[in-house]
Amino acid sequence: MTDHKPLKIAIASGKGGTGKTLVATNLFHTLISNDIKTSLVDCDAEAPNAKLFFEGKLEKSFAVTQQVPVIDENLCTYCGKCYEYCHYNAIFILPPARVIKVIEDLCHGCGACTVACKFGAITEKPMPLGEVRRYALEGSQSLVESCMKTGVFSPVAVIKAGIKEAGNGQTVIMDAPPGTSCPFIQTVDRADFVVLVTEPTPFGLSDLRQSVETLKRMKKPCGVIVNRTGLGNHALYDFLEQEDIPLLMEIPFERNIAHTYAQGRKLKDLDPAWETRFLNLFEKIILENGNSHHKR
Ligand code: SF4
Ligand code: SF4
Repeated sequence: MTDHKPLKIAIASGKGGTGKTLVATNLFHTLISNDIKTSLVDCDAEAPNAKLFFEGKLEKSFAVTQQVPVIDENLCTYCGKCYEYCHYNAIFILPPARVIKVIEDLCHGCGACTVACKFGAITEKPMPLGEVRRYALEGSQSLVESCMKTGVFSPVAVIKAGIKEAGNGQTVIMDAPPGTSCPFIQTVDRADFVVLVTEPTPFGLSDLRQSVETLKRMKKPCGVIVNRTGLGNHALYDFLEQEDIPLLMEIPFERNIAHTYAQGRKLKDLDPAWETRFLNLFEKIILENGNSHHKR
């Protein structure tokens, strides 16, 4: 293993079910088994499941909140300024009927309405968005879980808090939320390198194209892991060649791999060679990212 500066690596995919968590958990397990100080952050805040693969003791948990306005109807003049300032339609007002309400589910906590109100009618209160949990694993390794509350409009604040909790100064693996919308962007934006996990099928290629397009705009370096090889056709590999995207690893379409994963076990339980493959993957990422002291 070459020397390297601590990296933040996002493991992402254009859609769920492509093997993103399989890669994230096996890479994490390999690194911690080889005494490489690493944290895994489960950024899939709507459905975190990385913890299922590890034994760990809950060390810390805290709520992630957002300030939402509270309107004192005794002070409100129903002037409508707060409604005008709100870009998210989170204030409902009917001045003739003297009705004003905050629709908390739509509120983004921007604070504009509080600034707009010249009558001191708006104060703020914290509204829970979710929770961050930190689990201590073997040695000084940890797993951080971002978990969003049901019904909250966006997991972004909870994801950011989870990544912050993992800290700097060591390797961080982020199991990104699926898709290419805001939660994905917020996660990969904090990464030094993005591993895109896909399948060699037309759907896999279509999702991969979108993810690559987004990462190109963000100027994020990336590489690809093809999962379930043997399915589909060669078009995905042609795309990687055209776009000059490194193929980092291939995982075959095998029943026993799916079975091992479904039982919450690691691939190295199936075949110890997987540990070497994941170590090689990490080495390739360091090389692709140009951080190694032994650059190509
Ligand atoms: S805090 Fe921002 S989003 Fe929320 S109600 Fe006020 S103006 Fe609208
Ligand atoms: S800006 Fe203040 S006074 Fe005007 S409607 Fe909103 S809460 Fe009421």
